[in-house]
Amino acid sequence: MCGIVGAVAQRDVAEILIEGLKRLEYRGYDSAGVAVIHQGELTRTRRVGKVQELADALQTAPLAGGTGIAHTRWATHGEPSERNAHPHQSGSDIAVVHNGIIENHAKLREMLKGLGYQFNSDTDTEVICHLVDHELKSAPGLLAAVQATVKQLEGAYGTVVIDRRDPERLVVARSGSPLVIGFGLGENFVASDQLALLPVTRTFAFLEEGDVAEVTRREVHIYDLDGNPVVREKKESEITHDAGDKGEYRHYMLKEIYEQPMALARTLEGRIAQQRVLDSAFGDNAAELLKDIKHVQIIACGTSYHAGMAARYWLEDWAGVSCNVEIASEFRYRKSHLFPNSLLVTISQSGETADTLAAMRLAKEMGYKATLTICNAPGSSLVRESDMAYMMKAGAEIGVASTKAFTVQLAGLLMLTAALGRYNSMSVEMQAAIAQSLQSMPAKVEQALGLDDAIAELAEDFADKSHALFLGRGDQYPIAMEGALKLKEISYIHAEAYASGELKHGPLALIDADMPVIVVAPNNELLEKLKSNVEEVRARGGLMYVFADVDAEFASDDTMKVIPVPHCDEFMAPLIYTIPLQLLSYHVALIKGTDVDQPRNLAKSVTVE
Ligand code: GLU
Repeated sequence: MCGIVGAVAQRDVAEILIEGLKRLEYRGYDSAGVAVIHQGELTRTRRVGKVQELADALQTAPLAGGTGIAHTRWATHGEPSERNAHPHQSGSDIAVVHNGIIENHAKLREMLKGLGYQFNSDTDTEVICHLVDHELKSAPGLLAAVQATVKQLEGAYGTVVIDRRDPERLVVARSGSPLVIGFGLGENFVASDQLALLPVTRTFAFLEEGDVAEVTRREVHIYDLDGNPVVREKKESEITHDAGDKGEYRHYMLKEIYEQPMALARTLEGRIAQQRVLDSAFGDNAAELLKDIKHVQIIACGTSYHAGMAARYWLEDWAGVSCNVEIASEFRYRKSHLFPNSLLVTISQSGETADTLAAMRLAKEMGYKATLTICNAPGSSLVRESDMAYMMKAGAEIGVASTKAFTVQLAGLLMLTAALGRYNSMSVEMQAAIAQSLQSMPAKVEQALGLDDAIAELAEDFADKSHALFLGRGDQYPIAMEGALKLKEISYIHAEAYASGELKHGPLALIDADMPVIVVAPNNELLEKLKSNVEEVRARGGLMYVFADVDAEFASDDTMKVIPVPHCDEFMAPLIYTIPLQLLSYHVALIKGTDVDQPRNLAKSVTVE
């Protein structure tokens, strides 16, 4: 689930591997390790904690060698500890790094123990190295041994194997966990994400499901699931800016919050003309695929799910198509009803979210008319396997807590609403109003960022709180959910969001002076109803923080702090109200001293189910 980097070169590779791991740090991890082959010997260093600890260890005791693998681990089987950190070894010959989960590890472990193998960790991964070692006894070489090994694995893996007796070769295999090969001059690389390899190459080939590849300094041979040689197209990386740089910002998250005007401008580029959203925003074949759509099924997880929830209000209200939104891990394991002319929309920043990917594959089998992904990662599995793709162009998002990806997803979904609306019941005037709203978003977000100082001050009120409640109505309810999720993720304050109409059906019982209540209150037709909900909280002695339109006529007093948000139209309101909530969670986390960019227990790209 976390980071893999591998290299085969003439020069020493430890430094390249460590730099690669650093570039993958944003994904969240608990330990890191590296193994290299030098003069026929395998040497390994592993550390619990940050990659910097590993780097420091290598400073003291450098590892020479031109063939190596490295890993940041996000523990799934076995506690985070040095003995469970990757690379894992079988004796002193084979070393393996692995992302994902081997589901049948217990059975394989028993079998391997029966063959006399000793296990030195609690991980599922360790079965891979012993299996390769075992297969090597009858296989003609490392490639064949890995091919025989992966046939026995159930679950998800991106894995790289090296053998000290065959020192100039990496064998890699992919099933459910992404892997990319990076091509250099007289040296080659592998990684779980191209970001890791940008300092050494910009030419990549993405492995597909079931692929096994053998990588030497001069050659790369790729084989499909059945062992047939295949060619995977080489592509130049489209990543234009160096995501590894925080610039003037203290955290990636803050940098990414401030990048939102730019990210939105980029996502709109070339996608609106003559006051309407162009179908081509969703791919070359989109006009043909979108025109008959009558129902939309949105599938996503976490923050992306909240973006999908907001879009449901828009698609049903403005585009006149019915819409369901479901969490991917639920959808994939239940029998759902397929409506005629249905479009399946997946939303995923990384394009590798395991549950979303599985749900998309299931939907294809079910016979959805078309699949569309809203995704930030070119070349990712969701992009490759969907009929259409809305490429977000938000730029690399490093902070584990998603910010700019969320607002760009909202913009993409608003575009989808306009595009589908055109084929259904949306007036030309509304299409033009949406196009105009989209175009004024970057400037309005810039204005909303002006609230930063006021929110930093407000955040102090939250430092000693253990709980918080977020309220919103209509398409601001998902925004309240996203606000609560951000606060949970990075400040570890327990936060819940409710549609404010639900207050008296339970959560009102929680209200007292220790429960801050955050309300998102744009000036829309639900404002009067929301004001009644605010009175319900006030009557129970709750302390409120109301993010309200400058014209909404809320006034601060002893029980209520009002934060005026720049006036905006109804199409962009959810996006604009997201900004102060992102800033609030950031400043609360700063005060609490948590690890803002890599919150505990979380990973950036969730490639296991
Ligand atoms: N399941 C493996 C472990 O717990 C790999 C985890 C990962 O993807 O980092 O060690």
